[in-house]
This record gives sequence, structure tokens and C-alpha cells, in this order.
Amino acid sequence: MSIMIDSIKCVGCGKCAAVCPGSLIRIEEKKAVIKYPKDCWGCTSCIKECPVHAVKFYLGADIGGQGSLVHTEESGDILRWLIEHPDGRVTEIDINRKESNKY
Ligand code: SF4
Ligand code: SF4
Repeated sequence: MSIMIDSIKCVGCGKCAAVCPGSLIRIEEKKAVIKYPKDCWGCTSCIKECPVHAVKFYLGADIGGQGSLVHTEESGDILRWLIEHPDGRVTEIDINRKESNKY
């Protein structure tokens, strides 16, 4: 599992580095970098924190993702997961945070 950081979009705010439980992300020259991407265990915290959607999660073949990229966007209580497929399709999954813990 791994993330990818778009250095052009990144504004160097450091939010991703602050939430990474493995301290895998560092800010160097005002840009976020992940030194050892293979150490990422895919908690997705950095993806949800990034205010400019610069962090994407890579769904490799090992988990059946065939190279899709995932990022999130927020709108009120809705957390939207966007999956960009290699063929250009985009799948959107909306999670209402207020409802997500109800059983
Ligand atoms: S997905 Fe989790 S473990 Fe991986 S880099 Fe982001 S915050 Fe760290
Ligand atoms: S949260 Fe996003 S914008 Fe901020 S440092 Fe990380 S990648 Fe860059």
C-alpha cells in the first residue's frame, strides 16, 4: 500500500505529516515527501487531512485496485471518496459522517 503526493498541488501546510501515525511524511523545502512509501499501511489519515487534495492513495494490484487512485473531498457532513480508475472512469462514494457510526 502506498500514497502518492502531488508536489505541484502541495502547499506545505504539514497537516499530512502531523497525522501520520508512522511519521512517514516530512516537509522538505515546503513540500511533503514520503521517504519510504512501502512502510505506509494505508490508514488514509493524510489523504483526509490534505486541504488541497494533493495526497492520493494508490490501489495496486495486490489489493485488486489495478492502479486506481483514491482521494477524498469534504462538503459539510459528507466525506466523498473519489476513485480514479486507469481507464478514466471516476467512482464516487459519499459517506455521511453523522450516520457512519450508526448500526
Ligand atoms: S496513509 Fe496513513 S500511514 Fe500511510 S502515509 Fe498516510 S498517514 Fe501515514
Ligand atoms: S496536507 Fe497536503 S498540502 Fe499540506 S503538506 Fe501535506 S500534501 Fe502538502
